[in-house]
Amino acid sequence: MENNITIERMNYLIKVLDEASYNYYVLDDPKITDQEYDAYYRELETIEKLHPEWALDTSPTKKVGGEVIDEFKKVEHTIPMLSLGDVFNEDEIIEFLQRIENSGVHSNYVCELKIDGLSVSLHYEKGILVRAATRGNGVIGEDITHNVKTIKSIPLKLKQPLDIEVRGEIYMSKETLENINKERISKGEKPLQNPRNAAAGSIRQLDSKIAAKRNLDAFLYHLPNPEDFGIKTHHEALEFMKSLGFKTNPNNRIVKNINEVMAYIHEKGEIRKDLPYDIDGVVIKVDNLKDQQTLGFTARTPRWAIAYKFPAEEVLTKLNDIIFTVGRTGKITPNAILDPVQLMGSTISRATLHNEDYVISKGLMIHDTVSIRKAGDVIPEVVEAKTERRTGEEIPFKMITNCPICNTKLIKIEDQVDYFCPNPNCPARHIESFIHFVSRPAMNIDGLGDRLMEDLYNFKFISTIPDIYKLKDKKDALTKLEGYGEKSVTNLLNAIEISKSNSLERLLFALGIKNVGKEKAKILAKTYKNMDNLSKATYDELVEIPDIGPIISKNIVDYFNNIDNLKMIEELKELGLNMNYIGEELNVKEDFQDKSFVLTGTLTKLTRDEAKALIENAGGKTVGSVSKKTYAVIVGASPGSKYEKAKELNIPIWTEEEFLEKINS
Ligand code: NAD
Repeated sequence: MENNITIERMNYLIKVLDEASYNYYVLDDPKITDQEYDAYYRELETIEKLHPEWALDTSPTKKVGGEVIDEFKKVEHTIPMLSLGDVFNEDEIIEFLQRIENSGVHSNYVCELKIDGLSVSLHYEKGILVRAATRGNGVIGEDITHNVKTIKSIPLKLKQPLDIEVRGEIYMSKETLENINKERISKGEKPLQNPRNAAAGSIRQLDSKIAAKRNLDAFLYHLPNPEDFGIKTHHEALEFMKSLGFKTNPNNRIVKNINEVMAYIHEKGEIRKDLPYDIDGVVIKVDNLKDQQTLGFTARTPRWAIAYKFPAEEVLTKLNDIIFTVGRTGKITPNAILDPVQLMGSTISRATLHNEDYVISKGLMIHDTVSIRKAGDVIPEVVEAKTERRTGEEIPFKMITNCPICNTKLIKIEDQVDYFCPNPNCPARHIESFIHFVSRPAMNIDGLGDRLMEDLYNFKFISTIPDIYKLKDKKDALTKLEGYGEKSVTNLLNAIEISKSNSLERLLFALGIKNVGKEKAKILAKTYKNMDNLSKATYDELVEIPDIGPIISKNIVDYFNNIDNLKMIEELKELGLNMNYIGEELNVKEDFQDKSFVLTGTLTKLTRDEAKALIENAGGKTVGSVSKKTYAVIVGASPGSKYEKAKELNIPIWTEEEFLEKINS
């Protein structure tokens, strides 16, 4: 996302969004993806929120998208047809539900599938269909009665002779779209882009023969005047519409709380691909109609409903560069440097391109627009270049011939795809020792995995072990690394700080003195108590210690005779690392080991710091906010919102007494 809060950027975004809306709503021929549109839209919303004084009344955030084209008769909606606010993750759904609760509304909700079609308003007089209209700009729509009459599932006559308006979604099934596109391709015509635009394009035809051939369908989901029929809840309205002969969606469900909402989203996400029609999310609506009235509307959306949009499985972005990294074995990997883009809950700005053959087989050029997906839902992968978006500015990919770190000529073993740096002293090999230094049995720095260490090395954040402890001075630059936002960088820097107080044996093991494993490091630390004493130990002394044989003794003496090693240890000391043996470290307890805890409220028997220390000593850690990964929330007097969140997420809640019982068990 651009981080450019200027009036120029705002105007640019309005221009891009208006143009996209015209292509999408008027021409039914989008030129950018929905995810790109939504990202621009959110950016515009953010700028307008930060600078309400800049916001224009004509901004896309203030109006319902869609325009009315002249060829159609116009229809005025006496009750406006609105859009829906959208959310993209669980936190935003919780926020929405919280907002509703905070306005004093405690209703059930109805979850529905968000059908990817276009909305329609149907008017019946004495039970006979007299008018059908598109949403248009929300106030004025287009008369499409002639085409709607060709949709078999929309009754021309209701089961009761009522004057009534109903609203719903016209859509095209996946199968129909596939058949139409097969035919179009065989005739050399451009395929229809997606079911939504295909349905919209079909319904906005002057000749109803075309719509009739398009095999459209419809689900109805809204009754604008429920009070006329004595209806009190949204789910009753759905039942009522069904009883009149309308098709309602069988997946609609009443839910009571966030857990049931999330279960619905999860379940429908799973069956999505098996549905005969496309859905792009789930709509969550307040069930009680009086409550809906209390909550009301904004200019664009109701406040009583929200659309959760499924994460895109594939998104488009720009390939800004291809850079090369050197692995621990000397292996060279090309990496795609991308315009940061949101994909299934994380920001992607980089993806591995594996090797030269891989890049060539994909035909990638620098500055291409590329599609990205998450392979196995985890690792970002470049799927393909969108060659139709090329501008002529693209630069062909070229494999490097020399190591990007030490400039040694690369070698390639016959029949293998990878290039290697053959230089055993290539600084890239140092990475291995750094990875060992931070590993769990050594300094145990959480969050500094192999991949990040390689990045930190390649981007020159770390060239020596002491550099690890200087990272805190480069916090701003670190947050710009792929996948490392403010929060993860803060966590990492905290973990590095915490590691400074490790007992001597960890540091000894971390230094990687030849043959000094975990156990030997402990014996040495216990015997010598601090680094100074150990550094002065003679061979004769060392060799006398049980379990420390002649080879290890020699290695230790050699290590401390090396001036570079002594300098490095001195530097680590100056950086604040503990150089003393502080005794048996942890009293690890099963209920705490490797688990996250959250403290909230005032504890009476302990201070917060004491509670934290007890948790850490038992092998756990305390974190600042409640998530699904939290093992338990420890609650004191007058707890805050963390307590509420724990209840919502069904996280075990311990009182201070329960916590002490477990820690002392
Ligand atoms: P929307 O599609 O995000 O959500 C509102 C619509 O959902 C309603 O108007 C209704 O038609 C539909 N809907 C489906 N099932 C429903 C249900 N069960 N209950 C209630 N409503 C249901 O909003 P929108 O204003 O129609 O369109 C905006 C979206 O369109 C953008 O977020 C973007 O994804 C897309 N768009 C894309 C481009 C592009 O160039 N790609 C341009 C403009 C808009």
